[in-house]
Amino acid sequence: MDRPVTRFAPSPTGRLHLGHAHSALAGWRAARDGGGRFLLRIEDIDPVRCRPEFTDGILEDLAWLGLDWDGPVRIQSQHLATYRAALDRLADAGLTYPCFCTRRDIQTEIARAGGAPHGSEGPLYPGTCRRLSPGERQGRMAAGESWAMRLDVAAAVARTGRLEWRDRRRGPQAARPECLGDVVLARKDVPTSYHLAVTVDDAIQGVTLVTRGVDLFEATHVHRLLQALLGLPVPEWDHHPLLTDAAGRRYAKRDRAVTLAAMRAAGMTPDAVRALAAGSV
Ligand code: GLU
Repeated sequence: MDRPVTRFAPSPTGRLHLGHAHSALAGWRAARDGGGRFLLRIEDIDPVRCRPEFTDGILEDLAWLGLDWDGPVRIQSQHLATYRAALDRLADAGLTYPCFCTRRDIQTEIARAGGAPHGSEGPLYPGTCRRLSPGERQGRMAAGESWAMRLDVAAAVARTGRLEWRDRRRGPQAARPECLGDVVLARKDVPTSYHLAVTVDDAIQGVTLVTRGVDLFEATHVHRLLQALLGLPVPEWDHHPLLTDAAGRRYAKRDRAVTLAAMRAAGMTPDAVRALAAGSV
């Protein structure tokens, strides 16, 4: 690919660990090797879990590692109106519905129905609120119940027809956006969601190669659908394997010892940490 535009898009919910560095390095290398651009985006739409000091920590850790980024950092919480506009377009097209379910409602409904199909992130939403009548929706909204907005995936797929996308490592993929069910596009407390904000931002930032962990492979099926619905350009993806520790476990926020800050404090050099983070990329 000519001059790829890649990005690293961490959520500031903790300090970066080796797994993040692995992912950042994959995007940075693809951009630098191809003479392209490496962008940084802070995915801070969750006001409860995200903290400004973690954003500062991300910038500091990347700079220390020598992973320089191009242009301004995009901060998602500053662009909520943009995501709202995309949501409104999908709603106007009749492809969303309000969902009043609590987590407990969803569990109860799944148990009542004798189980639900599973995606990689657990049972899929059973579609309870998709079946509400317009009158029931209005009534519950008027009564002050809070709601999330979900994508009616079957209606959306009927609109777009079959879609494809391409992963650098695995080749062409037939899109299976139903694999995560009727995903949330706007949460009860936040006027967007991961899926919507990522898709809109990758287009706005001109990303041509989405490098991220294979744990988000299924999300890509949904993002491809959203791109088609919103008329956005389609990048290529490179889902890299997740870096694991010596015991074969993936790194997580709870592994404080492997944060880049901790390794730096312990006297490791950026080169040594980069070598560890590179793994088998
Ligand atoms: N913000 C997501 C995370 O920290 C990554 C999103 C993406 O790369 O698409 O897991």
